[in-house]
Amino acid sequence: MTLTLGFHGGAGTVTGSRFLLTAGQHQVLVDCGLFQGLKSLREMNWRRTAFDPRAVDSLVLTHAHIDHCGYIPRFVRDGFRGPIYCTRATAELAPIVLMDAAKLQEEDADYANRKGYSKHHPALPLFDARDVEHALRYLRPVPYGREVDLPGGFTATFHNAGHILGSAHVQVQSPREHGHTRMVFSGDLGRTDMPLHIDPEPLPLCDTLVLESTYGGRQHDPAPLQEQLRKPFDAAIRRGGTILIPAFAVARAQLVTLMLDDLMDQGLLPRIPIHIDSPMAADVTGIYERHLESGELDPGTGEPRRGRLFPAGVRLHRTIEESRQLNNLEGPRVIIASSGMLTGGRVLHHLARLLPDGKNLLVLVGYQAAGTRGRRLLDGERTLRIHGQDVPVNCHWISVDGLSAHADEDGLVDWVKAAPHKPATIFLAHGEPDASEALAAKLTAAGFHPVVPQLDRAYEFIPASRHWRQV
Ligand SMILES: [Zn+2]
Repeated sequence: MTLTLGFHGGAGTVTGSRFLLTAGQHQVLVDCGLFQGLKSLREMNWRRTAFDPRAVDSLVLTHAHIDHCGYIPRFVRDGFRGPIYCTRATAELAPIVLMDAAKLQEEDADYANRKGYSKHHPALPLFDARDVEHALRYLRPVPYGREVDLPGGFTATFHNAGHILGSAHVQVQSPREHGHTRMVFSGDLGRTDMPLHIDPEPLPLCDTLVLESTYGGRQHDPAPLQEQLRKPFDAAIRRGGTILIPAFAVARAQLVTLMLDDLMDQGLLPRIPIHIDSPMAADVTGIYERHLESGELDPGTGEPRRGRLFPAGVRLHRTIEESRQLNNLEGPRVIIASSGMLTGGRVLHHLARLLPDGKNLLVLVGYQAAGTRGRRLLDGERTLRIHGQDVPVNCHWISVDGLSAHADEDGLVDWVKAAPHKPATIFLAHGEPDASEALAAKLTAAGFHPVVPQLDRAYEFIPASRHWRQV
């Protein structure tokens, strides 16, 4: 009886993670992410999936980032009716993330209709809030470390991946009659010794590992993070500038705020106001606070703030009115707003206002996928098109990858090397081609057998050799 593994997203790109396991009549999908970034990728969200959503029995979700869970509402609308297994914290974060995605979809469709630039008349959202509400009914939260039975004889066990609250790498075992083989899906792997999130749990026993490769070929800046931030921030504060930090509302906004507060506490930076301009980040902060005592987070060694994540000085701006107030405030101050890759959200208004002024500082703190405004800036563009206007980038800007939530190349390799026994096959997913290939070379040199799958390729498991053959 054959077991196959298909890569229907998160292959050749860091977005749209969708890995399909098929054993006879049964199918398990691991992650169900939205494609983001380049137009050619975003258009894939509108393509029918290469497999029938109605034929998939269950979904295993590694974490609540949109590139891993953002297609779920559409998948359910297209007929998927199985349980969606995830950790408890992921089940709390997913509704916030998906509702926000629905809102963006609806706004995009509205905008396209008003401007008349859509190929479709009228332009429709990929999914809406009702689709999200429907999809959320299928979430089945499970604790870390407990083996759960999936339909069709598969089992799954979630282990903390230390990437964001609720994130997991998942060990999946195939049914006895289908090789009874152990596979681990890394999801996104976090970093060791970072504040807020605990270290990733070690890689458990597996024959096959599907490993993310976002930072293949790259190492995070070894300079202490405080040093990376202190100088440019100090200069901006002296200029009286506003420091704008585009940040993902989930995990990154919280981590950045904590680190800045720490720098100010230690007197390494003057104390200036920090504003988080995002209702979503405010909601997510509440969920983090509820999990502070759970052991899933690392609240640090400092004095706990009575269940609060941030000190009283951090201001959360939820409403549009509260957001607009920021337009009238002079620097120095810090504004944190999403989206982190400058693709949408409130950060665009702040960019339009702050980029042209040389006293301000823009700080990129996360991965900037191909096709995003953030990547164009990194690639040297000196104007960004925002709301139909070309906005000159006269302000200072820096990219601080020390705040990344992903393991770098050494982090990935060390995690694999520490495994109790060598996986026979390592599929490298969730990376742009250069990154995956660079990591493949490194793993090959270390004696592993990496494979870089292309989009919509599938592989069949060979029980005798514990390897996979492309089909
Ligand atoms: Zn992630």
